[in-house]
Order: sequence, then structure tokens, then C-alpha cells
Amino acid sequence: MTGPPVYLDYNATAPIRPRALAALTEALRAGGNPSSVHAAGRAARRRVEAARAAVAALVNAVPGDVIFTSGGTEANNLAVLGLKPRRIIASAVEHDAVLAPAHSSGAEVRLVRVDGEGRLDLDHLDALLAEGAGPGTLVSVMLANNETGAIHPVAEVAARARAHGALVHCDAVQAAGKIAIDIGALNVDLLTLSAHKLGGPQGIGALVARVDIDPVQRGGGQERGLRAGTENVAAIAAFGAAAEEALAGLSGMARLAALRDDLERRVAEVAPDVVFHGRGAERLPNTSCIGTPDLPAETQVVALDLAGVAVSAGAACSSGKLRPSHVLTAMGHPESAARAAIRVSLGWGTDAADIDRFVAAWSALYRRTQPAKSAA
Ligand code: PLP
Repeated sequence: MTGPPVYLDYNATAPIRPRALAALTEALRAGGNPSSVHAAGRAARRRVEAARAAVAALVNAVPGDVIFTSGGTEANNLAVLGLKPRRIIASAVEHDAVLAPAHSSGAEVRLVRVDGEGRLDLDHLDALLAEGAGPGTLVSVMLANNETGAIHPVAEVAARARAHGALVHCDAVQAAGKIAIDIGALNVDLLTLSAHKLGGPQGIGALVARVDIDPVQRGGGQERGLRAGTENVAAIAAFGAAAEEALAGLSGMARLAALRDDLERRVAEVAPDVVFHGRGAERLPNTSCIGTPDLPAETQVVALDLAGVAVSAGAACSSGKLRPSHVLTAMGHPESAARAAIRVSLGWGTDAADIDRFVAAWSALYRRTQPAKSAA
């Protein structure tokens, strides 16, 4: 390894932002339970409510609609299970944190197809809505995909769903902090956020709920009775700080897009056979999903790691499980292609030197593997 580690796995977890870390330690040191009436409790409550306002501002929501949860997974579970739908129409490329609760909810689940670039098939959505929708139907479509960065036309999805009387949930975990989000413009009822994808700590997230839902976790009356349990004040405070920074940092996303595009251009120069999955769709500015025929993702991730460069194979949320990505197979790619894709994701700390290091390490690996490939 030459030089400091290069971290290009922001879609798995973004490094914590200094202000978020400071808010975290400050709140931990201060202590106090937000439900207590004494001064320490009131100070903790103030931290929680300030963070609620900051998280709401990130998506232009009303603070009172923000319910803090233990992360994006819990928020998705709360949305899907708390609404108790009879029928769920979700995109085929949703995260498992939506698909698993949907499948276990007892509701009928139908998946909306995507095309080869990861673009949602709106005609298929219409057909599924026409088969039967109404008040017991929940449509769940993520704003941006975690593996390809493909952005879905959620406002358009919501308009079509509403015309059929369905409610709409949007998993905005990967989009938040990377593109501007306005919950009113998206016109969704429920929206999921996670702090660690935007520079906050792991284990804290939020569901923004503009409709009545039932709690999944019962106990004390915290979070308007919708999420029992003493609030994780320090993580919430850090989430608030990260949300403020992320909102302010949106203007820097063009810089990231330029770095990502430069990376792709240089990779394609070295390896004309690579495919950038989802490049034909509108995409997040920070994500590149690179498929290299016959070069297994694990080989790439390990070789890059040895060179001090961190990227992921498929969905890092479930890394450790080396199964092919359901996202790429839903896009119509064979399992072999899904097993040969790595995800490179940039973020607030990425600079041009990081891209140079990636390109050098990846190109060396690619060149090393060429004789083996041509002999095969
Ligand atoms: N939804 C998407 C799109 C994700 O990428 C992730 C990532 O892990 C999650 C939900 C789960 O969020 P968390 O890790 O906060 O549970």
C-alpha cells in the first residue's frame, strides 16, 4: 500500500463528519433523559428537538413528522408494518429493509420491473395499480438505488399511486445528502432516512410520517408513541449536525459528479469491456457500479483493499453474504455479471488524489488478469 487509506464506500457508511462527532461526544458527556423534567433532562430534550428540526429541514418536512428510529432498516419496517397494508407494490430493486418486512407482513406483494439501466417501468406500475389498489395499498419506491445510484421518478410514482387511492413510501436513505429532497414535492406519505449514509453515526435514522401509522415497538410513549424506548440522544444530536452539514454540502455535489465521471472515463480507457451499470439512468452524483466481465467482485475488492482502497462488492449493507445482487439481476443481467460488479461511492471527503489511487490500483489489477482472461 502506498499512501493513506482511500475510502470509496460512502454508500455503505460515510465517515463521520467532524461536527457530528463533536455533537455526539458533547451529548454523551452531558447525559440526561429527554423525558426527565429536571435541567439535565430538559437540556437533552432540547438537543433532540434541535436535531429533529435539522433532520426535517434536510427534506423540507415538518419537524413534528420526524420519528427517530435505530436506522433506515427500522424506519422501513415501521413504514411497511405500521401502515398494515393489504397490498404492497414495491420496486424490484428496493433494499432488503423494505422487501423483507413486505414479504413477512402478510400483505400481497407485487414488484415493479426496472429496465437494463435500473429505470422504473412506469407502465408496469400502472398495470399493477390497475389490478387493484385503493386505501389498503402501499406503494414503496426508493429515491435512489444503493448499488447503481439510479434515481427513481418518485413524484411521478406518487401521482400515479394517489390516482388509485394508494399511500406512498419512499426509502430516501441513499439520496439524502446527495441530492436535494423536498417531501412535499415528492408527495409521499412516508420517507426513510439513515444518519450513517450522510456523515452521522450508525444506529440512528428517521421515518418522516405524514399519515397515521401504528407503532411496531411498544413500551413508553416516546416519539409520539410511535417508537418506544429512551431516545439515543447523542446519536440523534449527531444526526442533526450531519443533516445540517449534508444540506449545506449539496452545492458540492457537482464536484463529486466530476470526480466520478473522471474515474469512469479513465477506467473505460484502460478497460473498454467494462460496463457502468445504471449510467443510462439519472444517477446520484457519487456512485459508480462497475461491471468487469469475468473478473469476480471479491477478487477486485480484496486486491483493492491490499492497495489500501476500500470499495464494495454488490450491496455492502449485506456484505459478508456473497450472493449476487438482486438489483443487477432485476436489471436483467445474468448472475455472472452480478457477481463481477463493484460499487465505488464517493463522498464529502473524497478528492482527486483518491481517484488517482483507485484508477492506479484497479488498472494494475485489470492488466494482471488480462492474460488469464484471454487464455480462458
Ligand atoms: N435502505 C437503503 C437504500 C440502504 O442503502 C440501506 C443501507 O444500509 C438501508 C435502507 C438500511 O439503513 P440502515 O443501515 O440505517 O439500517
